Amino acid sequence: MITADLHTHTSFSTDSSQPMEDAVLTMIGKGLKTVCFTEHMDMDYPGGEFLLDTTAYREMLFRLRNKYAGKLEILFGVELGLMDYLAPRLREYASGWDFDFIIGSSHLVDGIDPYEPDYFGKFGDKNGILRYFESILANIRAFDDFDVYGHLDYVVRYSKAKAYSPTDYAELIDEILKTLVSMGKGVELNTAGLKYGLGFAHPHPDILRRYKELGGEIITVGSDGHKSEHYAWDFDRASGILKQAGFEYYTIFRGRKPEMIRL
Ligand SMILES: [Zn+2]
Ligand SMILES: [Zn+2]
Repeated sequence: MITADLHTHTSFSTDSSQPMEDAVLTMIGKGLKTVCFTEHMDMDYPGGEFLLDTTAYREMLFRLRNKYAGKLEILFGVELGLMDYLAPRLREYASGWDFDFIIGSSHLVDGIDPYEPDYFGKFGDKNGILRYFESILANIRAFDDFDVYGHLDYVVRYSKAKAYSPTDYAELIDEILKTLVSMGKGVELNTAGLKYGLGFAHPHPDILRRYKELGGEIITVGSDGHKSEHYAWDFDRASGILKQAGFEYYTIFRGRKPEMIRL
């Protein structure tokens, strides 16, 4: 089983009320060896939500890192909400802290979260998904100080179109994956898709396979859990999903450097 959860949130994220120390105890109980906390930092989110008090977050994390040394390896990460025009501010933030790992994610497209019903109301189903992928491409052309792209097709969680097929967006997805490979960036296997009942983890297995075909090697695994019962979600299925897509390794980041671990 994969024993490193590289995408987790606690009460330092706006959308979680999970105390960090309880999270650590749960993770130890679940048999995890490594966790990276990746609290949300979204600049310019409507209403000023999802701004991270990085000082307080880091202080707590380092306290727990010392307290639980030998029981759980605790890594210092962040999930940055990317938008192309934020690039200079994101760059300054990312380089200002000693993060082990940075996930770049899309949470807003043209200022709207796909989670909001307005999103697909405004764009329509197919265009809503298309627009999301277009924004990812714009983000990674503008900003490169991240390690993996998070939940690459997160948008489909909220789409009404049940028959999502990456083939419909193949050209755009290829362009994203080729760009990530050429930048030496990874993608993550985000098991929250399974929790949402999509029948697959993010990204869709076709996208994982394509990333591999195009030369991609860097895959982290994360539950995107925001509370205890969701950490390491369906991790017993994760290595099977990766092997089926052609991977022999998954990746852990420490000090922003990848280490490959055999599946
Ligand atoms: Zn996210
Ligand atoms: Zn997340």
